[in-house]
Order: sequence, then C-alpha cells, then structure tokens
Amino acid sequence: MKLKIGFTDSSNEEEIKLNEQYAKQPDTPVKSLVQVRFPDRNMTLSYYNDKFDLHCGDLVFVDGKLEGLRGIVVDVSYNFKIRLSDYKRVIAVSDTEIKGELYMALSHFIAFDSSVLPYKKVLGWFKASSYEDEEIVVCNDDSSFVLDNLNDMKIGTQIADRGYDYYMQNKVVYICVDNTHGRAIVTGTVPYELEFTYKNGEISNLICDCFCSYTCKHEFAAMLQLRETLKEIEKNYADKFQESNYFAAISKSVLFNFCVNNQNTGSIIF
Ligand SMILES: [Zn+2]
Repeated sequence: MKLKIGFTDSSNEEEIKLNEQYAKQPDTPVKSLVQVRFPDRNMTLSYYNDKFDLHCGDLVFVDGKLEGLRGIVVDVSYNFKIRLSDYKRVIAVSDTEIKGELYMALSHFIAFDSSVLPYKKVLGWFKASSYEDEEIVVCNDDSSFVLDNLNDMKIGTQIADRGYDYYMQNKVVYICVDNTHGRAIVTGTVPYELEFTYKNGEISNLICDCFCSYTCKHEFAAMLQLRETLKEIEKNYADKFQESNYFAAISKSVLFNFCVNNQNTGSIIF
C-alpha cells in the first residue's frame, strides 16, 4: 500500500510561488528582544530583532559569534530598554511551512510537485541566504560515469568509506532532479551544496562547494542516495516521476525536525 502525507495550513490556501524569495520577508517588522536556543551548542542567547515579526518556534540565523548556526526562537519580548551596541541581531528567518503531498521512500520523503520542496526553500533551513552577492566560479571537466557503476567515480577507498558513512547516517538531507539538473544538500561540518547532470542513467558535471580538488565524500554520499531514491521511485512511483520529470527527496528526520517539532499549528493528513 502506498501511503501519502499532506501538510496543510488551514488558514492559508495560497499556492507557493516557485520563484519567490524563500526567506521570510521583512515587510512588517515588529521590534523585539528574543531568546534564541542553539541546539548544536546547547546554549540560549538574547538577540535584538528589528527586521522580522518573530514568534516562538521560528528558525533563525544571527550575526556575531554564532553566525551560520541555526537557532530556534524560544521567547519574544516587546517590553525592553537596551543599549543596541550590547546586542547582536537576527539576520534571517527560515520558511519551514510545507504544503503538498509527500511519498515515503525508506529514509526519505519524496515530492513530485516542484512547489512542495523547492531547493532554495530547503537550503534556507540550513544557511542564511546572505551569500548571494559573492562571486562564484564553477569549472567542470567533462568526466562522467554511470550511476549504477560508482567504481567509475575515481575516488579513493578511504574517501569512499567516509562517503558511505555519510549516506548511511542520512547526511544527504536533500536531493532533487529537475529534468536533467540535479542538486543536493549534504550536511557535514557545515551544509554543502552539490550540483550534477543526470541523463539516461549517467552522471556528469558533478560538483560540490566544499572546494575539494578531488572527488569528495559528499559527492559519493549524494550518488549513493540518488541511486537508492531512484530505485525506490522506479519500484513504487514510476508513473508519478514519468509524469512530472521531477522529484525532490528530503530526509524524514530533517522534515520532522524543521517542519513538525517546532510548529504549534498546522495539520498532517494520512
Ligand atoms: Zn564535498
């Protein structure tokens, strides 16, 4: 039996626009002093906010020493008198609201509708979108390999072993293929972004932004996850993939951590 889950927000039926900015918009800021908990550091600190309308449970990024670490708003105060120079600020809020159907595939959920789990939206759960002004250079050689034969990846045994561990630990938190363009997010010390081309069972233009000059463990882990996910799709959801020519897979635990555990409203349909 095929199960499906739909996440809905009863108060808002508007469709998510594909090309919108996925960080929440600072259009109606409400000044506040917020307590932010950082699970990775097991600490809670105060931040000043004048850009957003923040609520408990919001996932935020801040400046200062903990820049780049994800925090959760655990308290919001509107009554305060502070010296601004004493406080660091909230610089981004992640949009963790999901609407649409998700299909189960082992460790991951899969969406076949491109508006459910768009890459940029999910990326915003892992890092603040403040790097967009940076100049990025991408160079690819024209090497390619068959996904079913990863021996052709030219990867050292040790790195392959570590990549396999990453795959087994579900560190390939997100992977999607839109027509032939693939993207993935692999969490290591920091989140890494990967891109590749997938065509007729063959992978080319595989690149990771961890700046390894050789084939890295993130790339190997992503290919293992891609192979697994495509097998599951072929077995259970072939018609859906054929129709959409798109899929996005997200780790079940990530989805629950980001979209369920921190939310106080919303519903799940089984
Ligand atoms: Zn890498």
